[in-house]
Amino acid sequence: MQTIIRRFIPKEQEKTYLYLPFEVPSNTASIAIGYRYEGDDGGSLPNAEKNCIDLGVIAPDGSDLGGRGSSVHYAYISPSYSTDGFRTCDLRPGTYQVLLGAYLVRQEGVEVEITITVTSGSKSYFRGDTHIHTTRSDGVKKLWQIPRLLQKRRLQFGFITDHNQKLTDISLPQSRRALLIAGYEWTNYHGHVNFLGVDAPFDGTYAIDTPQELLRYCRQAKERGAMVSVNHPTCCYCPFRFDVEAFDFDGMEVWNGPMRINNLQAVELWDGLLQKGKKIVALGGSDYHRDYFVLKMLGAPCVEVEAERLSADSILQAVKEGKVTIYDRPDRARLTLAAGEATTGDTVAWQQGMAVKAVAEKLKKGETLRLIANGRTIAERTAKRTGRVELSATIEERGYVRAEIRYRKKGLSLLLHKLVMSVMIPSEAKLPVPPFLRAMTNPIYLD
Ligand SMILES: [Zn+2]
Ligand SMILES: [Zn+2]
Repeated sequence: MQTIIRRFIPKEQEKTYLYLPFEVPSNTASIAIGYRYEGDDGGSLPNAEKNCIDLGVIAPDGSDLGGRGSSVHYAYISPSYSTDGFRTCDLRPGTYQVLLGAYLVRQEGVEVEITITVTSGSKSYFRGDTHIHTTRSDGVKKLWQIPRLLQKRRLQFGFITDHNQKLTDISLPQSRRALLIAGYEWTNYHGHVNFLGVDAPFDGTYAIDTPQELLRYCRQAKERGAMVSVNHPTCCYCPFRFDVEAFDFDGMEVWNGPMRINNLQAVELWDGLLQKGKKIVALGGSDYHRDYFVLKMLGAPCVEVEAERLSADSILQAVKEGKVTIYDRPDRARLTLAAGEATTGDTVAWQQGMAVKAVAEKLKKGETLRLIANGRTIAERTAKRTGRVELSATIEERGYVRAEIRYRKKGLSLLLHKLVMSVMIPSEAKLPVPPFLRAMTNPIYLD
């Protein structure tokens, strides 16, 4: 929605402030304000021959949203990024005001034209990485380098999850390229757990020895708004060594870094918990530390979330709700799941004869699209040629249903996988390679 306001300022109003109210509706993603007028020579020194009008923006509660005098003639404000000098914040509905400061006005007065553009934040899909390390732990990239890397990988957000590093001593860099969101990877000989969305999830040290202490940390983190997700629980090097079921985890990182047998074991573990009636969000994270020559590791895998807008709060909320689909690479075509109005992450009341549908926008030849309900495959289709594939089934009982795409590694890709495994995980290199995941949705729950 765009509004243009023209306001004449006479000489008599020089050195006064003018307030131009405008309404911001609920679910607003961004506000952009631009203004122009004649007679500004661009210089910093005042003189009687020039006009100079300052710009500011005032929030509904009367506080300053920002302003830099007349040094910029525009302001973009959003929850993920704002023009320098303006606050990055959620745009709550209400009456905002453009503040015009009539610093210098010529004898004949000046007309100012202000354009206000309010963009609504209808639900949308954003892709990002939930697990990124920097030089604050054992990654090789500096924090400020991450937004550019995310953008290069066509990702819109990334959670910074350095090992045992709270983010209370710094603010995450803001960038128009991508949104950085706070996180913390609790890293301990007993396992790794991601605390997503807060800069200091708990008080005390990471160096604890008992499940009771970790339980206390999880409780504290949840009270502070974090999503608590157990990382790579079946990793052959650093698995979760306490009893997973003794914890009320919000999420489980079932897909950590490149697809391998360890990850499939985690998917199996997660699916087993779903079959017991638990609701745990499946997450994927690249566990990015560095790239290896041409192999780009960021966003492999990545997640796609359905969120109100690209803001830390909104993305975190969507992740907590399980509105998450995992892909092996950022450029994969979409996989969606629906049961009537319900989509991935929703809980609906089960009804006899209820239909569910998965759609793979671009299933490649030989790949298999599968619907899984309560641990069993209820429908599957293997693509004979590359293209869009829809798969439907009827849900016969309460529980959950989810979708996934699998494929078999062949030729050079299989050889490369074996080679990498022989260096990284020799025990896995000896095993036959099962069908790997290309993508997987979180479930729709049918209560
Ligand atoms: Zn880890
Ligand atoms: Zn990690």
